[in-house]
This record gives sequence, C-alpha cells and structure tokens, in this order.
Amino acid sequence: MNTEKLISSAGRYLNIFCREIGERSVGTDGNRKATDYFEKEISSFGWETELQEFEALDWEEGGATLLAESKSFDILVSPYSTGIKATAVLTAVSTISELESLDAKDKIILLHGGIAREQLMPKNFVFYNPEHHQKTISILENCGAKAIIAATGRNASLAGGVYPFPLIEDGDFNVPSVYMTEEEGLTLLPYVGKEVKLESVSKRIMGNGCNVIARKGGNTSARIVVTAHIDAKKGTPGAIDNATGVVILLLLAELLKDYAGDKQIEIVAFNGEDYYAVPGQMLYIAENQGTFDDILLNINIDGAGYKTGDTAFSFFGLSEGISQKISRILDLFPDISEGVQWPQGDHSIFVQFGRPAIAVSSQWFINNINDQDITHTPKDNVEIVDIKKLPTIAKAIKRLIEDI
Ligand SMILES: [Zn+2]
Repeated sequence: MNTEKLISSAGRYLNIFCREIGERSVGTDGNRKATDYFEKEISSFGWETELQEFEALDWEEGGATLLAESKSFDILVSPYSTGIKATAVLTAVSTISELESLDAKDKIILLHGGIAREQLMPKNFVFYNPEHHQKTISILENCGAKAIIAATGRNASLAGGVYPFPLIEDGDFNVPSVYMTEEEGLTLLPYVGKEVKLESVSKRIMGNGCNVIARKGGNTSARIVVTAHIDAKKGTPGAIDNATGVVILLLLAELLKDYAGDKQIEIVAFNGEDYYAVPGQMLYIAENQGTFDDILLNINIDGAGYKTGDTAFSFFGLSEGISQKISRILDLFPDISEGVQWPQGDHSIFVQFGRPAIAVSSQWFINNINDQDITHTPKDNVEIVDIKKLPTIAKAIKRLIEDI
C-alpha cells in the first residue's frame, strides 16, 4: 500500500469520526454511528466481526442556577447527574472527617478544599478506586443531603485539561450534583448556614452501545489483541483522544487484509474508556474470563498522532525476546521512540491480567500529562493531529505483529 493512499484514508477517517459524526460519547447516536461505520469499514477488508452489545445512559443538561440571598453563582451540571429544584440550608466541608460528623439532612453540601481535589472515581469503576473515594461517595449517598456543590481546582492528571472539573461524574450515583471553580467556592462560603436556591436541569436517557471486535487467523490460543477506544468524552471532538487510535486500527486492518498467519489477530474498538461505567471494557473482561492467558500481547493506542514530538511506545511486562524484536523494529521508524509507562488507558486491563502490553501514544502528552489543558476539552480537535504519523504507526504495528 502506498503511503499517499494511506495518508488520504487517514484524513478521510479522521474527518468522519471528528466532524461528520462528532459527538461519540457512550449512549449517544453518534457513538452508535461510529461503531456502525467502524464495523462496516473493517468488514470490507475481509475481517470477521462481532458486536458486543450493552446498555448505557446518555445525558442531557439545560444548565443550572444557584442563588444565595440575591447573589448568583456560576455553576455547571455534573455529567450524568439527576436534576433538582430546591431551596435548602447550605453547609460546607473540606475533609472526610468533617463530612463524617456532618448533619447534612435536607441540606445542600458545598465540598471545597482537600475533599474536592481529586475527581471521585465512579462507584462501579473497578480498575482504580481508592478507599477514600469510596468512603466519600458512601457518606454522601447516605447523609440525606438534597444536593452537592463541588468547588474544584485544577487536576490535569485525573481530569484531563478541564477546569473546573466535575468532582462527580457517575450515572450510578443518585444525589444531584453541580460544580464550580475554587474561586467561586470561596465567594459561596460566607453563605453557610443560610438558605440557598439551587436549580439544575439534567436528564438521564436510556441508550445502548457496543464494542466492535474484528478477527483474522484461526489459532485462538495465540492471540494478539490490538485495541483503541472509539468513544470520546462528552462534548469534545476527541481527535487525539481517541479518533486517531481508531483510524490507526482501520489502517492496520487494511494493511493486514491478506493476513494468512496462524495466530489470531483481534482488533477491538473498545467502547467506554471515557465514560463513567466503562461498559465495553467490563463486558470484554467478562467475555474473556478464562481466556486472557491466550493473549500473547496487547497493543493499545490512545493519544497518538499529536502534531508535536515523537510517537511513544511504552512497554509493560514484555519478555526479553519481544523487547529485542521491538527495538529492532523501532530503529526503522525514526519518529517512534520508547515512552515511560503510564496507566490511564485500556492496556492496564491486560496488564492487570498479567499480559504483556504496549501502549501507543504521543510523547508530548505523556510528558505533559499533569499540566496540559487539551484532553477532554474542545481543544482536542483535528487541527492538533499530524495525519502523516497515523500510517507510520499502523505500519510499525503491522511489522511488530508479523515479527512476533
Ligand atoms: Zn483515551
């Protein structure tokens, strides 16, 4: 396949995912359009496909207002929250121990300071869920509060580039919540003990979604699994996170259309990496109970193709043999270099099951993970993609698959 043609395919795919389809968060029509398109396109290269279907909420909001006496505050509706219209006494805490001893019944709680520093992991997010998050969530659910207002700071490593970030983003959590900046929180604090009026228009909508799995090669006890998540964070075009990953999967599928090897190649468009309940990943794990050991290697693409800097391949638990092969292959690709390990991606699933993995991303994002303001914002659009990098990555992965 010549490079010009691959570059033009990459540009066409990226445009379809980010501009024609646009919104691809789990539960939306756009998400289903994206999986339909992916399935159709990859089948056209002779791959056998399977759809793993699940139910998932979508969410719509109509803004929120908060009044204390005659002062109004800038607030945002927490994603996937339920709505509320209530007048209640405001109370505030900044630590878990304050929260534990708080009488919050029928009040509106302002969470500020330390307790609002880290985005709380969703209740049913099993991969990483620190005890202090679980404890906070459990107290909030059982304290009888009418609603929660979170005043949050900046935390790019956990919330992407979003400021303020929603402290709670969880469709399984049923206390209505809104959020605001740290500065706005300071101006609200003097109203503790007084009545405030909160109205938040927010609606959960039943929906569904699926993983798309494409396979070639018959030996199911020697699988190479190449993955990228097809969903995007709600309200963002998700170009680098992660349309480029899915584009690379399609380019790879075309490059391997005549694959006649024995090992099974499994290409997975995961659905849910940027969604509170990670439904596609949970389903994939359930479907693979007892067969993870058949996986020789996972290659997960997330955050690849940024215009500045090298492509990064980060290695997790590779054998000496595979490592050597990979360094020889990477020598052939001057724009790809080894990256440090980073955990925030679907390769972590395979690593947790003891499988070797390679995470494919951009060095710039790995190096700036704590202080960039692009991830999960509208800035993550096609303009920041270097389209020429995508075919190069697909070719490198093809070489790797052939050499293993
Ligand atoms: Zn991602």
